[in-house]
Amino acid sequence: MKTIDLGSKFPGLPEEKEFFFSKVVELAADSILAINEEMELVFFNKEAEKTFGYESEEIIGQHINKLIPTEYHERHNKHIRNFLNEKIVSRLMSVRGDVEVKGLRKDNTVFFCEISILKVGTQEGILLVAILRDITKRKELEKKLKNLAEIDALTGLMNRGTIENVLRREIERASRYDKNLALLMIDIDYFKKVNDTFGHDMGDFVLKHLSLVCLDNIREVDFIGRWGGEEFVILMPEIDAKGVIVVAEKLRSSIEKQPIKFQTDEKIQITVSIGGALFKKSNPQWEFLYKEADTALYKAKKQGRNRFCIADG
Ligand code: GH3
Ligand code: MG
Ligand code: MG
Repeated sequence: MKTIDLGSKFPGLPEEKEFFFSKVVELAADSILAINEEMELVFFNKEAEKTFGYESEEIIGQHINKLIPTEYHERHNKHIRNFLNEKIVSRLMSVRGDVEVKGLRKDNTVFFCEISILKVGTQEGILLVAILRDITKRKELEKKLKNLAEIDALTGLMNRGTIENVLRREIERASRYDKNLALLMIDIDYFKKVNDTFGHDMGDFVLKHLSLVCLDNIREVDFIGRWGGEEFVILMPEIDAKGVIVVAEKLRSSIEKQPIKFQTDEKIQITVSIGGALFKKSNPQWEFLYKEADTALYKAKKQGRNRFCIADG
């Protein structure tokens, strides 16, 4: 096999070496493009043509903005100007994961990308070379995994871990800004009987129905999650005791009034018991608020179910 002496100096590549590099760039599985200091495209490899949908001839000479969604132009151009003035010669643009870099195709579709940029000095001035990879599929997968980890698969509500985090965050906020916060624990009455009479699938259907009724009865600013089994929690920021009673009663009675109709035409009427508690600055732990709401729920069950009890203020 013929070996190629890659030499060590730039510019002034021997022909073979130039051939080698141009082949590498041409055949690379990543998009490789370059712009000059005026941010005009001066190079566009085959993969870039595929990714963006432009022929090299039609895009060369155009401003880089052509390949970036409008809302990112300003930020991107500033980023490039800074990079040109910095000493560092290479950088990964989406390195922290909090900056989403997006590309714009010829057909106006947008895609997520990961880009590393390099500054290269040439006889005609500085060129910025971008090596770019379409990571849309990876992003979609990440989103799916995040959903799997945070969302309750049956109801689509936040799962226990997620609502616990929200609870921590909202308690911190209520504590710091001296705001009201209330927690409701909702538990279906005699749910075991639903499963025993109609089967587990119908039980699941009831859980989904209940989550929709709950969503219908809360405000935009409220949070709802499935705590587990047939227990749900609603977290309500900036609400006083009177407000909590109104929401909980409305919720309790709308569940009681709306019989659930199965596909088999069978109907079932369910009720819920609800326990509520208001956040107290003197006990700023989420476990305390939860315990209070849970004790109130237990009281509601004990007093005959289908009712709302609030923890003593
Ligand atoms: P109470 O009025 O005291 O709350 O009585 P209950 O029957 O509702 O209480 P219990 O907590 O003993 O029963 C809850 C039942 O919920 C038991 C369990 O089989 C059922 N369950 C838990 N998770 C699911 C689920 O995801 N789907 C279905 N269909 N049933 C579930
Ligand atoms: Mg229960
Ligand atoms: Mg129950």
